[in-house]
Amino acid sequence: MRSLSARRHWVFDLDGTLTRAVHDFALIRRELAIPAEQDILGHMAALPAAQAAAKRAWLMAHERELAAASVPAPGAVALLRALHAAGCQLGILTRNDHALAQLTLAEIGVQDLFPPQAIVGRDEAVPKPHPAGLLLHAARWGVAPGELVMVGDHGYDLEAGRAAGAMTVFVGATNAWPALSDHAYADCEALRQACWPEATAAG
Ligand SMILES: [Mg+2]
Repeated sequence: MRSLSARRHWVFDLDGTLTRAVHDFALIRRELAIPAEQDILGHMAALPAAQAAAKRAWLMAHERELAAASVPAPGAVALLRALHAAGCQLGILTRNDHALAQLTLAEIGVQDLFPPQAIVGRDEAVPKPHPAGLLLHAARWGVAPGELVMVGDHGYDLEAGRAAGAMTVFVGATNAWPALSDHAYADCEALRQACWPEATAAG
């Protein structure tokens, strides 16, 4: 297995990976009357159109507020800048909406690193844990999915990475998915220091 620092195609989850986690999924389920054990996007996709539209509108408004208040996760900006400086391709794969992902990236000051087609939102591919979004990134970059690194803070990210044949990296305090993770770091800062110790932490 090639080392992480030799990888050139990096896909990141957004919320809770590049930003500090703020989504309260229990609250979202409560507001939208979605049972605790059900997948939020999956539940909404199965609803009659009118009901789904109302819930999507609430979710968009709620997530827009969260996006506008986004704060970068520790080391996230420095990691992205180091990867970019090393000539790596960068992508976002999120279960959030594309436009809200752009708003979030602007809020944390890295929108210049992600042109629109470097972002795959929930309406552009079957959402994670399905690997479709990773396959789309690989196709856009013209590389095999096995070349990709998938970085995320949730089992969905790692499952999608595994299913695509990508290298998987968990970032977070406690890795509940060790079997799905090729690597695990406490945060983006620890990941950057492990792979690019020479890159400055500035920015
Ligand atoms: Mg996340």
